[in-house]
Amino acid sequence: MKYISTRGGEAGFESSLAILQGIAPDGGLLVPDELPQVSESELRALSRRSYPERVADILARFLTDYRPDELLDYARQAYAEDRFDPSPAPVVGLNKYLNREFVLELWHGPTGAFKDMALQILPHLLTAAVRKTGSRDRVAILAATSGDTGKAALEGFRDIPGTDVVVFYPEKGVSDAQRRQMTTQEGANCHVVAVEGNFDDAQAGVKAIFQDPELSGELAAAGIRLSSANSINWGRLAPQVAYYFSAYCDLLAANVLEPGERINFVVPTGNFGNILAAWYALRMGLPIRRLICASNRNKVLSDFIRNGTYDRRREFFRTLSPSMDILVSSNLERLLFELAGRDPAPVRNWMADLRDKGQYTIDAQSLRRLQEVFVGGFADDQGTTKSIRELYDRLDHVFDPHTAVGFNVYERYAARSGDAARTVFVATASPYKFCPAVCDALYGNGFSRGRGEPALVEALARESGLPAPSWLQDMAGKPVLHDRKIDRNRMKDEVRRILLKSED
Ligand SMILES: *Cc1c(COP(=O)(O)O)cnc(C)c1O
Repeated sequence: MKYISTRGGEAGFESSLAILQGIAPDGGLLVPDELPQVSESELRALSRRSYPERVADILARFLTDYRPDELLDYARQAYAEDRFDPSPAPVVGLNKYLNREFVLELWHGPTGAFKDMALQILPHLLTAAVRKTGSRDRVAILAATSGDTGKAALEGFRDIPGTDVVVFYPEKGVSDAQRRQMTTQEGANCHVVAVEGNFDDAQAGVKAIFQDPELSGELAAAGIRLSSANSINWGRLAPQVAYYFSAYCDLLAANVLEPGERINFVVPTGNFGNILAAWYALRMGLPIRRLICASNRNKVLSDFIRNGTYDRRREFFRTLSPSMDILVSSNLERLLFELAGRDPAPVRNWMADLRDKGQYTIDAQSLRRLQEVFVGGFADDQGTTKSIRELYDRLDHVFDPHTAVGFNVYERYAARSGDAARTVFVATASPYKFCPAVCDALYGNGFSRGRGEPALVEALARESGLPAPSWLQDMAGKPVLHDRKIDRNRMKDEVRRILLKSED
């Protein structure tokens, strides 16, 4: 299998090079030249396997220049029991008697958000890619983060020989816990920088760095190659496809589903990586009915799914679900490529319109294909808070604000459509990552004001019955090691400063 660019430029890369490269040379995103298929009998066989075996099986279909036993070894290390407590991707029933609604909990990893699902295995895939391509370069992993990718990338790549990690986060765009997770990061190869701006600024800055021939020339001369830890990297997406298969397999194994029964997934969405992985699973043969794409008040995707116009020219809001505060969802480009029947010409035009006019409108046929599967909706902070409260009252279950956005959107969709298909809610973060917002929802607005983090953690532990995660305890009392803050136009210089040790 080879990897091609969504914009049609020169590519045809092996999977290892696609992972090493992160982004296509023409600025497009790399995608496999065909989508592998998983048959119903293969799905049944997978349902008897462990999580690492399921991941290795799915990855082997995409990463054809990695050996299956090699992938299994990486998956076993990445998803080991001491990293995911109690397991990587458990499916939890919400109502014992109805057996209709389930939660896929993806936040049991070392940093408390679903980004760990890919970023624990990506370092294995990437260091192997360096070997496979015969490269002698050091790899510098760049990441822009809306809060969770940064920490997960730092944790995944910390002290991995031959690598550096540089994380840019929006100075005012992350929760306190997210910021402290990153600024206290240990590891000689870890670099964390605050950017004055929002996530879109940070992401645009990173993309510009990738497309800067001058800088990549300077880095190449110093034996350094850039790669990406954002979901523009195929190595982030492929492991995410696996947990959709795994969730379905768990429900098959529990005899909840009829063979072939189609189910819905509800996905709180920002950069469109997570939900895109679900769409790939669908195209590979996983029986999926609807994908419910849930946004917060930055509802650019929800509008797009409804009317086919993607318009980023709008106010940017900071919300209680900061990891979804995004107006330019990078991975949508991969879906556009598919909706256009894998023709790169319209994709190039739409992306040019986005750059030049701040918006684009897809054709009627592509819109129809989009709406066959995707349902869009959004919840504001008030709705998010209300959902956290109601879910607690009704189900005795505490969810983080991102996951709550998904519930809020789904409830209105279900009422409107009468869709009674079994539904899996993707839970993307531990509620402990957003203690103040969750406590305010549970105990009443204003509760968190004037209370310190330990008091809030204790209050949340009491109400939720969830043990406080180990990353939270580890963080307490750690000194801040990264306090650098830069203007958003200085990201390139910052990369030079860090990687080439150049002072200006
Ligand atoms: C990153 C993130 C999201 C959004 O995921 P995308 O793949 O960017 O759509 C949602 N919730 C949480 C907690 C996240 O960290």
